[in-house]
Formats: sequence, C-alpha cells, structure tokens
Amino acid sequence: MAKYTPMMEQYLRIKADYQDAFLFFRLGDFYEMFFEDAIKAARELEITLTKRDAGQDDKIPMCGVPYHSAEGYIKNLVDKGYKVAICEQVEDPKTAKGVVKREVVQLVTPGTVMESTMLNERNNNYIASLSHFEDGSFVIVYSDLSTGESRIAVIEAGFDQVIHELYNQPIKEIVISSNLPEELQKQLTDRLRVTLSYQDEISFNGEYRAIFENLNDEKMVKAFSRLLNYVQFTQKRSLDHLKQAEILELTNYLSLDMYSKRNLELTETILRKGKHGSLLWVLDKTVTAMGSRMLKKWLERPLLNQVQIENRLEAVEGFYKAFMERDSLRESLKSVYDLERLAGRIAFGNVNARDLIQLKKSLQRLPEIKEHLSSFTNKQINDLANRLHVPTEVVDILESSIIEDPPISIKEGSIIKDGYHEQLDTYRDASRNGKKWIAQLEQREKQETNIKSLKIGYNRVFGYYIEVTKANLHLLPEGKYERKQTLTNAERFITPELKEKEQLILEAEEKSVELEYNLFVEIREKIKSFIPDIQQLANVISEIDCLQAFATVSEANNYTRPTFSESQLTIKNGRHPVIEKVMDDGTFVPNDIELDEEKDVLLITGPNMSGKSTYMRQLALISIMGQIGCFVPCDKAELLIFDQIFTRIGAADDLVSGQSTFMVEMLEANHAISNATNRSLILLDEIGRGTSTYDGMALAQAIVEYIHNHIHAKTLFSTHYHELTELEDSLSRLKNIHVRAEEYEGNVVFLHQIKEGAADKSYGIHVARLANLPDKLIDRASVILEHLESTDQSQEKKVINPATEVESNQLSFFIEDGVKETKKKEKQEEDSTLITELNELDLFAMTPLDAMNTLYRLQKLAKEKIKI
Ligand code: ADP
Ligand code: MG
Repeated sequence: MAKYTPMMEQYLRIKADYQDAFLFFRLGDFYEMFFEDAIKAARELEITLTKRDAGQDDKIPMCGVPYHSAEGYIKNLVDKGYKVAICEQVEDPKTAKGVVKREVVQLVTPGTVMESTMLNERNNNYIASLSHFEDGSFVIVYSDLSTGESRIAVIEAGFDQVIHELYNQPIKEIVISSNLPEELQKQLTDRLRVTLSYQDEISFNGEYRAIFENLNDEKMVKAFSRLLNYVQFTQKRSLDHLKQAEILELTNYLSLDMYSKRNLELTETILRKGKHGSLLWVLDKTVTAMGSRMLKKWLERPLLNQVQIENRLEAVEGFYKAFMERDSLRESLKSVYDLERLAGRIAFGNVNARDLIQLKKSLQRLPEIKEHLSSFTNKQINDLANRLHVPTEVVDILESSIIEDPPISIKEGSIIKDGYHEQLDTYRDASRNGKKWIAQLEQREKQETNIKSLKIGYNRVFGYYIEVTKANLHLLPEGKYERKQTLTNAERFITPELKEKEQLILEAEEKSVELEYNLFVEIREKIKSFIPDIQQLANVISEIDCLQAFATVSEANNYTRPTFSESQLTIKNGRHPVIEKVMDDGTFVPNDIELDEEKDVLLITGPNMSGKSTYMRQLALISIMGQIGCFVPCDKAELLIFDQIFTRIGAADDLVSGQSTFMVEMLEANHAISNATNRSLILLDEIGRGTSTYDGMALAQAIVEYIHNHIHAKTLFSTHYHELTELEDSLSRLKNIHVRAEEYEGNVVFLHQIKEGAADKSYGIHVARLANLPDKLIDRASVILEHLESTDQSQEKKVINPATEVESNQLSFFIEDGVKETKKKEKQEEDSTLITELNELDLFAMTPLDAMNTLYRLQKLAKEKIKI
C-alpha cells in the first residue's frame, strides 16, 4: 500500500491527540477536515463532502470551511456538544522547508468558549469538574471562564446529591477522571445532558497559587486542579482573570432538589424549557447582563440567614419607595458594559480598542451611580454606594491613550491619541509632513506644467503617482517623469523625489502602525493588573441591579414586604406570581394560607382544574421569593424560613412531559420523606395517582401519616381520594381545606377559592361534560357512578349489567334490537367487556385528557357494535 503524503502524515499525527474533537486543519484560506471528521462534519454543517488525493490509491473524504467564516461553523458544532481543535500553520509557508509546521492552538469545547458571539449574555456558561474520593465523597467545581468565577462544593451525601446540585445549572461540559464508574458517567450525560471530558493527570500549578489560597482541603485542591489542568491544556492561553473559587456551604442555602427545581419552574418551564413562563421571567427586571446572571444565581440559591435576607429586603424597600431615583439609576446602569465578561476577555487578550473605550465610558458613569445611591436615605443602599470603588487609574490610562472612536482592528493603527507617546508622534509628524509636502508638490507641478487636471494620488500597489490625462500628455517635459501605469484616459508617472518622499511616508506609517499595536498591547497589559478591581466592581453593580429589579417588579405587581416568624406562616390574599402574570386580566383569585405548630399538614380536596396545584406551588414560590429578598405577591405575609422544599407534582402535570411513571412518583416521595426536617416544606400533589385506586389510596394515607407523625414538616397534600379527608379525625395536626366549585345548571363552575373543610364531591363527570363528551355518555357515567356510590362498602363492587340491573336507555337499546338469539348472546359478551372496562375506569385517577381518550375509544367501540 502506498504511503500517505507528508502533509497527511502530519495530519494523522496531530489527529491522534484529538480523537474526540473535530480537527480543523488549516490549509491556506481554509480549515479542512478529513476522513471520519469530514463525513460527520459535512452532515452536521450541511456542507459539501469532496475527495482528495492523499498519496494512496483511493482518495480520502474531505470537507472544509473558509477560515474567515469559521466562527459560525465552530459555534454550530460546539452548540451541539462537540469539541473543535483549531490547528494552525505556525510558520510562514513562504519560508518553510518541506511541510509547513502546524499545531493545535486551541481546543474549543462547550464549556470553554469565550467569544461573545458564542455566548448568551444573560446566561452563565459553566465548565465543571467532578472528582470522587475513596471516602465516598465527591467534589464539584464549576467555573465560568468568561467571567472568571468558580464555585466549589464537597458532597458527602452520595452521587444523587451531585446530580441534584448540578441539575438546571448552565453547565455544558464536565471534566472527570476516566475511572469514574461507567454507570455514573452515563447518569451525567443522560440526566444533565453535558459533554464529558477527561483529565486524569492532576498537577498543581504554582502559577495559580493565589487562587488556591482559600482552599485548605486537599480534596478541593485536587478537584480545582483537575479543572484548571484541563482548561490549560485546551486553551493554551492566560487565565489571569480566574478568581478564587467560592466555597459553597450548601447548608447555608435553601436546598431544592432537582425535582423541585424542575417542578417549580424557577428558571425554565417544564414543557418548553424556556425562560418564558418561569419565575425568572417574572422577576428579571435587571438592566445589565451581569445583573441578570446574578439574579438567576440568587433564584437558585435562596438564603437561610434572616439577617442577610432582611438586608436585601431593606435595600429593595429603599428602591421601591423612591420611584424617581430608581428610574434614573436604571438609566445610568443601562450604559454600564458587561464588565465581568470584559475582564475575562482582557485576561485572555481578546479585547480591542473599542472594548477599552466601552470600559472607560462605563467607569466614567460610576461616580454618577454612586451619587444616586448616596442620595437615598437607606443604610443598605448607602452601603452599596460605599462598596463602589471606581478604579480612576484605569480611566486615566485609557483617557490619555486611546482615541474616542477607534476602529475594530487593533493592527491597523488609528488607536492611540496624539501626545501619548513621543516616538509615535515623531512618526506621525513625518507622515503628516510628508503628506503636506505631497500636497504642495501637486500645486507646484500644476503650475510648472500648466496642466490644471494634474493630480497626485495613492494606491496600495503602485504607491504615490502623478496622474495626467492623455489629452495633456504633450505638455509634459521630456525625461523628468517615469511612466508607471496606463489607464484608458490617463497615464500615471513617478519622479525620483516623489519616490523618495513616498519611502519616508510609508516607512513612518508602517512603523507607527507597529508601534501603535505594541502600545495597545502594553495598555491592555496595564489594565490587566486592575482585573480584580473590575471584577469586584462588576459584582457590586450586579447586586445593585438585582435589588433594583426586585423593587421594580414588586412595585409593578403590587408585592409586599414579608416578615419572618419562627413558628407561624400566614399569607393573606396570596397570588401565584407567574399565573397571575400569564392571565394578565386581574381575574386571578387570591387565597389565604395558614400553617403553624398546631396545624402543619393541609389536606386539599377539590375538583380537577379547580386550582389545587396552583395553590400549592404558590406557597413554594412565595417562600422562595421571600428568601431571595424580594417582596411577595400578597397583601400580607409572615413567612417561615424553610431549609428545604420538596415537591411531588401530580401525575397529571407530568404526563405532558411524558416522564410520569409510578416509580418516579415514589422516588420523589421517598426523597422528600428521607431528607425533610421540621423546617422543610413538602408539597405532595395527588400522590398515588399512578397506580390502582386501593394501592394509591393506601400509599397516600400511609405517607400523610408518616409525615404527620415522624417528620413534622410543613406539608400541603392534595388528593383526589375523598376518603382521606377522614384523617382529620385521627391526625391532630392535619386540617382539611378544599377549593370551592359550584354546580350551575348541571355544569361545574370553578371559583378557585380555598375554603376550610373537605370538598363535597368530586365533579369528575362535570369536567368530562366540559370536555364536550356526548350527552348520552355523560348520562350513562352518572348512572354508573350512582350505582357505585350506592353499593355498600362491604360488598364487592360489581359490574353493572346494562340490560338488567340498572335502568338504562343509553346503551341498552341496541341489545333489544331484534337480532338472533345466538348473535345476541355473543354480543352480550362483547358488551360486557365494554361495560367491564367502563366500570373499571378509575375516574378520579384520570386526567381530563385521559378521560377524553378513554371515552373516545370506548365510544368508538360502542359505535362499531351498533353497526352490526
Ligand atoms: P388542579 O390542580 O386543581 O387540577 P390547577 O391548579 O392546575 O388545578 O389549576 C387549573 C387552572 O385553573 C390553572 O391553570 C389556572 O388557569 C386556573 N386557576 C387556578 N388557580 C386559580 C386562581 N386562584 N385564580 C384564577 N385561576 C386559577
Ligand atoms: Mg393539579
């Protein structure tokens, strides 16, 4: 077999180190891909697959993208979770002997992208690392390379806890050791949908000593090193902006497991996975991208410390009351650039002069912002003002060095101000003087030759030239002018003295462009040393932005400041913050809630669609809002500070996302029961729905009893099992409440009002009527229900025979249809399967959608029978 060409050999050598990435191999103006990479990339990017000679008999697959538009293609692949290794020519092809030397200069991965065009500005982009240790503990670290922040947490409670912690965070990639058990690796990819990367060798890098200073735990040092080692390997550039990792004491925050994060739709909805319709969607009234990112973090980590909560609330109240001042603060904040990400890009060395001007302008707004804040008579807000330290030196450096409106490119000059650098000024003088001289030359030549249209011009190829139209050529003296270029109507000439000046001008310009670039890099390096100040500033600005956002949303939606109690939870006229916004017509019905040490379990009954789930989630959302320091949607709130919130939201709601199995339901219930404390909130919404009636009811009852007797968590328990309302007699701290519905002309009317006591009936059939099922069918269901309800508890519930036991003119008519005896008998058998099935339906365990589908099928069956 023939050998590959030397370039292909080089390709294969490099590719061997980047098996799990697309290798973008630079060839002239293109990045080319070969072999499997080419086939896969052609498919993913919808580009043409071609073939290329590679020295062997058969051509090899190839595809490519132009280097100047490569970013879009790279983004496309990285968004899909792939990695892309960028391989550049690292020597000048003109001077290279043999194959041009090539190297991978960067590995772009989902967690390490930095380019602003590849990032969503209102979202963090995390890369995480997970390390496991012999004592069974895990350490997770996650970093946002674009902002330089990292968080680290030790998890003792097992792998599930790792998933709960990482769930719903914007983590794109997780770096692990290759000996993490397969099964756990699979859970990471399945449950978190992330790209996995491996880093086995861990070496502590002295260069980054400073960011390890706060880690006194060897496991943490190892875990953070794993992440850094991987990032260094892939990025091959400076990481000066990385901050110390914030150690997360998970017990300092309200803990929400992954079920609750999902069920409560804090930052995205279950169905569409988007922000719209989530609590974040309602609350995010921030004006800066940094503020928006922080608000999301606050929402995911509500506080437990009452002093911290009150501090936030106090500031929110200050902003709330001062509408005018808040408005002008918002205006000023709007002109503050994304300082956090800018700091990252300064460290990485990919800012241009325009970015630095933005930085300067942002910093120049700060005194004004500071003044706004100081004008408040609110201590918390004044404190924020005091924490705003303007790095005036940065402003001074940039003010003296960079012109106000620089070009995008940093390699073509016109960046640095006159007077900033003596040598640069000399070059510029030379060039300007030269140009002045040329202007004078033009005048002189015109006079001497008497050609009015004579002009001196410049182009990149020929340099400076004297242009004379063909009609005037005869006026030129012999000998002095050397012909350079012929156009249709004119000739272009040079003279020795013009040539000489040109040399001087171009030299000066070239030197000044080069010097400007060097000066720019020097300025950027100077600014680099202020990165920590800029980051600190970004942090305070984000905080201010979040607090004003809370005030803004609280005022717009009539929220009230909550107070906190040790034992008593009272909410007057509480509303669901999201649903009231979605309805947006003021028709949301507010409801009260009360939980205390005497009554800590509320059992909620009421028809489908009446508002049980809404009422339960409302309490969780109000509690979370209170614990992040926001006002809450109600007239008055005295809240408890919950340590954990657990949710099990009804099968009905989950069916939509196709994730409901009885097993999941039980897992979630178990998770709540085994972790809740008497300071937790548990929401169990129609538990036991996923199995047969008696099973479900038995489990539901046992679970309520267990929570009541052993856990003492504040609990809301909605159920469709009416029988459970009797528990009020035996469980002393359980109280029945129900959502009121009324019957009006045979239809059910939902009032969405919570009342004391148990619901009188279930209205399942009424809901079926609302769904427009045929009247005959509804009437029949009523008959069956009556029969079931009249059957003695001790008797086994029998299938009703439609012909005999109950008067029924709905289904029976086709039985007495004059068919032959034998047929009739057969038919009766078939009918009774229909009846059996109908009778076995567990109406209360069905969602309206279920009911629709089932009845549709049964009706179809019935219709077929009528046809016979
Ligand atoms: P359930 O859990 O009892 O079946 P949901 O809580 O899912 O009912 O509520 C069903 C629908 O009723 C909601 O989507 C909402 O449109 C409406 N709803 C619920 N609570 C209220 C309320 N308090 N005020 C107005 N509409 C409500
Ligand atoms: Mg419900």
